[in-house]
Amino acid sequence: MSRFFSKSRIFNSIRFYIFLLVFVAGLLPSLIFASSLSNSYEQKSVSTETIEIISQIRTLSNRILSENYFEDPTSQQVEAYVDLLSAIYDGRIMIINKDYAVISDSYHLAENKTVLSSEVIAAMQGVDVSNYDGENAFIEVVVPVEASETGEVLGVILASVSSTDITMNIEYMSENAMVLGFAVLILVTIVAVFGSARIVRPFIRMSENIEKMQTSMEEAELSILDYEETRKVSYAFNDLIARMKQTEESRQEFVSNVSHELKTPLTSMKVLADSLNSQEDVPAELYREFMEDIAAEIDRENNIINDLLTLVKLDRTNGEININSVNINELIELVLKRLRPIAARHNIEVVFETQRNVIAEVDEVKMTQVITNLVENAIKYNTDDGWVHVTLNADAAFFYITVEDGGMGIDEESLPHIFERFYRADKSHSREIGGTGLGLAITRSAVLLHRGTIKVDSQLGNGTTFSLRIPLNYRTK
Ligand code: ADP
Repeated sequence: MSRFFSKSRIFNSIRFYIFLLVFVAGLLPSLIFASSLSNSYEQKSVSTETIEIISQIRTLSNRILSENYFEDPTSQQVEAYVDLLSAIYDGRIMIINKDYAVISDSYHLAENKTVLSSEVIAAMQGVDVSNYDGENAFIEVVVPVEASETGEVLGVILASVSSTDITMNIEYMSENAMVLGFAVLILVTIVAVFGSARIVRPFIRMSENIEKMQTSMEEAELSILDYEETRKVSYAFNDLIARMKQTEESRQEFVSNVSHELKTPLTSMKVLADSLNSQEDVPAELYREFMEDIAAEIDRENNIINDLLTLVKLDRTNGEININSVNINELIELVLKRLRPIAARHNIEVVFETQRNVIAEVDEVKMTQVITNLVENAIKYNTDDGWVHVTLNADAAFFYITVEDGGMGIDEESLPHIFERFYRADKSHSREIGGTGLGLAITRSAVLLHRGTIKVDSQLGNGTTFSLRIPLNYRTK
């Protein structure tokens, strides 16, 4: 686990990014909500209070008009109302006449003084003016007093009231918001930490399982099915492991087969040599006979090694193919010409039948080997006075070769295996004939390299037919 969360890697981990995402997504909305809540509360409270003050001032304004206060500023009723308003709103009320002189001040500080603030001047033009000073916590309202008939502005009323209750409410709200914010922060952090750990857990398990597999490949199987993604990775991984195991098995099997096949001629040679050495005064004929047997075993060893090298080369140069336009009729004729003397030893008739001339894009060396192997087998696994028929045909896309013999045939059980390396249907016979068990494996590899197909049809005792289908034009893809 520690490897995953070492300092240098933590900022690169999925877990860190998930943590960040959950953290930001969880915290940001609450921060925005808290700040917009206190802002809108402040605006709403100020506007409600301002409207209320204006309405109270209008009542005062009506009283001033009815008492004709600007003409005779002695009205007890007006004075009492000014004091009342001042007390209710914890503020200062001033009545200013159209000469900008204060004729009443609830604080009794500015009577007869002139007030020329921009708000008062604006209100003298007949408009209500209001101002909020959040920092110093007060609301200032200036309302014109207009004569009811003419609409003439006779003066203004200025109210400067404290807004500390609003400020206190906001402070109280902020404190609560802080506590709530802190709680949200802790909650979001917990969710982010545990949530991210939970989300990445399957990936950590996956990596731990893979690490364990390095020690024992035998029971290697990944099964992390928590998410669609880990499920897919598990299946893909298991497929890969299965293929690796298969490759490893066939490699081991091949190596053990090779060792066995290479050892067999050596063992025979050793037996022959030992039996000669153990006898005294061995007659010259026996010596010659044994030495011929040893030479035959050396040839066999040589054949196996050559076939192995061909096969390995075909495997390794998979896709490496030397394509040329080749006259297939001539190629077959040449192979048959070379093999007829061998067939003649057992009086086997080899016939080539074709109705047309076929030119195809093939690797000449490999194609020669394919036909040689098939015809050689047809001769080898034949009977004396037997026959071998080779046919060639073609259509627009492919050419077809069949190699048919009336020989010993292959039993049903062996038929599916004959293209396997070192497989021999009739072991004793094949060895006696000098087969390596690699010929058909080489043939198949070469045919596949040409993107062709090879099929076999056989009946024990009745003969065998190999059918090839190969594209006339070799395409790289
Ligand atoms: P080998 O070197 O033993 O001939 P091959 O790979 O060429 O190896 O063939 C594999 C086996 O298939 C042979 O051992 C033989 O038993 C069988 N076989 C191949 N061709 C024929 C055939 N034309 N008739 C009967 N059996 C055949």
